[in-house]
Amino acid sequence: MPIATVNPATGETLKTYDALGGEEIEARLARAHAAFHVFRTTPFAARSELLRDAAELLEADQDDIARTMTLEMGKTLKSARAEAAKCVKAMRWYAEHAEELLADEHPRAHDVADSGAADTVVRYRPLGPVLAVMPWNFPLWQVVRFAAPALMAGNVGLLKHASNVPQTALYLEDLFRRAGYPDGCFQTLLVGSDAVADILRDPRVAAATLTGSEPAGRSVASIAGDVIKKTVLELGGSDPYLVLPSADLDKAVATAVTARVQNNGQSCIAAKRFIVHTDVYDAFAARFVQAMSALAVGDPMEESTDVGPLSSEQGRRSLEELVDDARGRGATVLCGGDRPEGLTAGWYYEPTVLADITPEMRIHHEEAFGPVATLYRVEDLDEAVKTANDTPFGLSSNVWTRDEAEKEHCARDLEAGGVYFNGMTASHPGFPFGGAKRSGYGRELSAHGIKEFCNATTLWYG
Ligand code: NAP
Repeated sequence: MPIATVNPATGETLKTYDALGGEEIEARLARAHAAFHVFRTTPFAARSELLRDAAELLEADQDDIARTMTLEMGKTLKSARAEAAKCVKAMRWYAEHAEELLADEHPRAHDVADSGAADTVVRYRPLGPVLAVMPWNFPLWQVVRFAAPALMAGNVGLLKHASNVPQTALYLEDLFRRAGYPDGCFQTLLVGSDAVADILRDPRVAAATLTGSEPAGRSVASIAGDVIKKTVLELGGSDPYLVLPSADLDKAVATAVTARVQNNGQSCIAAKRFIVHTDVYDAFAARFVQAMSALAVGDPMEESTDVGPLSSEQGRRSLEELVDDARGRGATVLCGGDRPEGLTAGWYYEPTVLADITPEMRIHHEEAFGPVATLYRVEDLDEAVKTANDTPFGLSSNVWTRDEAEKEHCARDLEAGGVYFNGMTASHPGFPFGGAKRSGYGRELSAHGIKEFCNATTLWYG
């Protein structure tokens, strides 16, 4: 894949970049290694100040970087601004809380005495340079979600961003430099995915985090496994959205639309499979289809646009193949299912709702990365949970009910890293984020996220 900015709204190539050569990669790895040996000993107060400064710069740049993101991957400008604001919030959150999250722990007195120690302490020490392989869909947020805790813990970052967002990738390196981070603390490596294996195998790289597709995750995890390095994987999702008879239908429908088409439908935690109890199925389906059909598809730079283009021609082709396969096997297209008329340049696709889905259809098991929803009619809660879990993924889930027993049932049985009741999945710095099954492993955000790239060290004093 060439490293280039190609506007998804027009298909026009705006800027191309040469990938770094071997010597340039080597220089950056050496810089990261050297930087870590100094940065690991910086006090939390100094790290907090740097991250707060970065947050302030990003806040001031919000409009400009939002335009860059929209230009590179097609998200609506309003959602790009919101993404930048979310990054500022997460940076400030970790600047404020990291020291407390990584404070020394004191094991129980009984265990200390039992071990024969005078005292023991658990200390969270950084690991070293962490390679972050990141996707284009939230090109700022995915990186900040990794970088803010990693830098606060005293690690340093090496970013291999998706090849279609090079300007956002370079912006991030520049942001941390302008904030005053020492040379080598956060570097962008403009390289293709073919360069990842050698970088990951380099002894100076301590660990890796990957957000992206399953094949990319499998490759990085197997290489890291071969050289015994820690990884965190945030992979795909096909989140269920359960609507049960006691649901507030107005809110459930409005939220369903947002949950499906956020980021032009290209979000790992988008609700993708709508599993609706038969008592409310017809009412939900009619209103959902009406609302999906009413969305404004068009230029992502326009404030009035709800759904912009998909990020690439290949992305749209993959989505079309999934819809065509379902249609060919008997799915009913309730709305959409085609390219919008009049938008011939760029990679647009209509908001689409498919019903009568069966397990033989690819879309039942695969992730639809675009504005395509599937509808399932179920007879009771057991069937709803069974359908929800009938997927290789386990990222998050959404449940609409006012019944406490149903909530408890779902909290116990849904196979996912999150269960959101009467709302849609949205990450927050204070809560762990990550998946089960083939959505990956490890957690980001909260105390869980910052500890992933720490060496929990037992200090035993005799
Ligand atoms: P992708 O093709 O896997 O790309 C993600 C990153 O991995 C890019 O930097 C890509 O580089 C790199 N890459 C691709 N193949 C690789 C390989 N074999 N070895 C090493 N690196 C490799 O995924 P995408 O299409 O950009 O992103 C969409 C996917 O990400 C969806 O499945 C979505 O659900 C998932 N996602 C998950 C989360 C989460 O938190 N769980 C969040 C967002 C997205 P190039 O661009 O150079 O190919």
